[in-house]
Amino acid sequence: MQYISTRGGMPPKSFTDILLGGLAPDGGLVVPDRYPTIDLATLEGWRGHTYPQLAFEIISRFATDIPAADLGRIIDCTYTRQAFGSDDITPITELEPGLHLLGLSNGPTLAFKDVAMQLLGNLFEYVLEQRGEQINIIGATSGDTGSAAEYAMRGKHGVRVFMLSPHGKMSPFQRAQMFSLTDSNIYNLAVEGMFDDCQDIVKTISADAGFKSRYKIGAVNSINWGRVVAQVVYYFRAYLAVVKRIGDKVSFVVPSGNFGNICAGHIARQMGLPIGRLIVATNENDVLDEFFRTGHYKVRQEAKPTSSPSMDISKASNLERFIFDLVGRDANELARLWRELDQTGGFDLSQTHYFDKMDEHYGFDSGRSTHEDRINTIQLAKQRFGIVIDPHTADGVKVALERRQAGETVVCLETALPVKFESTIIEALGEAPPRPAGFDTLESQPQRFTQMPNDAEAVKQFVVNAINA
Ligand SMILES: *Cc1c(COP(=O)(O)O)cnc(C)c1O
Repeated sequence: MQYISTRGGMPPKSFTDILLGGLAPDGGLVVPDRYPTIDLATLEGWRGHTYPQLAFEIISRFATDIPAADLGRIIDCTYTRQAFGSDDITPITELEPGLHLLGLSNGPTLAFKDVAMQLLGNLFEYVLEQRGEQINIIGATSGDTGSAAEYAMRGKHGVRVFMLSPHGKMSPFQRAQMFSLTDSNIYNLAVEGMFDDCQDIVKTISADAGFKSRYKIGAVNSINWGRVVAQVVYYFRAYLAVVKRIGDKVSFVVPSGNFGNICAGHIARQMGLPIGRLIVATNENDVLDEFFRTGHYKVRQEAKPTSSPSMDISKASNLERFIFDLVGRDANELARLWRELDQTGGFDLSQTHYFDKMDEHYGFDSGRSTHEDRINTIQLAKQRFGIVIDPHTADGVKVALERRQAGETVVCLETALPVKFESTIIEALGEAPPRPAGFDTLESQPQRFTQMPNDAEAVKQFVVNAINA
């Protein structure tokens, strides 16, 4: 399998060639030149597979230049009971007939990003070792991404992580998760500024091509193809767990921000998984809900801070992968839309035949929720289903209850555990969320971080010093 750019300006490359990179050189996103297809008989044969077996079947179809024995070993040591709390890896619970919750948050940092990031850490180490290379990852986080990346890369040979976070702005739990790591290849930089300032510093450094190549700077943000592909696996897993007869349709509701998670659902559908609808759930930052309702994609000036902070986005970077398929994989048409986006801040498909295809052919639908909806849904889930859900998952459950149709089988993706967002849970339920085993003393462990001025040059200097140390 070869990889190309959505904007047509990259010669075909292999999986291991694109794994360590971010954007394609022409500014587009990397996509496979075709989707491997799975027929129903093959799917039937996967029914008894363990999570690692299923992951191997799917990922090996995309990572064709990694020898099968190596890939199998990497997958087997990633998806373990030890890392994810059970052999199921992504356990599924029936909330009521026709409505299921897919548990994706049992990895080391208690958010769904671990499922992909843990694999990425092992793949990075393997590819770097094969090539005798090193990488220095620079990222910005408001909470979930940074901790998932650090727990995936800690102690890995050839990898250093420099994670920028806004000083004093993360939840105490998230701060403790990151700052209590003592691995010598992990550097936490608390920037005197907001999350946007951290992101701007990362952008400034990434735009310095000389610095980037000299110091082998890389990223693990949500556009990384390896992350997307690892997420495809659990759509198959959930499907096999809930359908009575292979071929019946299942719909998914996905709490969404950068469109990475649900993009994996779209890919599963393109591979032939019988998915009915893919329902995007947003919070007040509803740029995606607006797009799927109206066909008008309008990037916001800035994201509003909400009580489901990991979905606070002003634009959805992975959407470009879906639009590429929507326009019939026509890179010129895609590039034209993104030029319009750069010039005017958006594009409008409402008057085109693409708009009807979004739901009729690709099954997309959407909904949104507010802080009040989240609080009500956390209360409802406790009363009706006897479970405590986090604010992001609540956005999904709210939209699932509102949008589901009679007879439809719906799977709602759980994206984090409630303990990460204690204050919202206390607001909704009047009591703190349950703490998983092993996390009871997290906030009292010693913390290690370096405070930094809001200045890209100072961050660069820190990186250089750490590399030369
Ligand atoms: C990252 C994240 C999301 C959004 O996922 P995308 O792939 O960006 O759409 C939702 N919920 C939680 C808890 C997250 O950490």
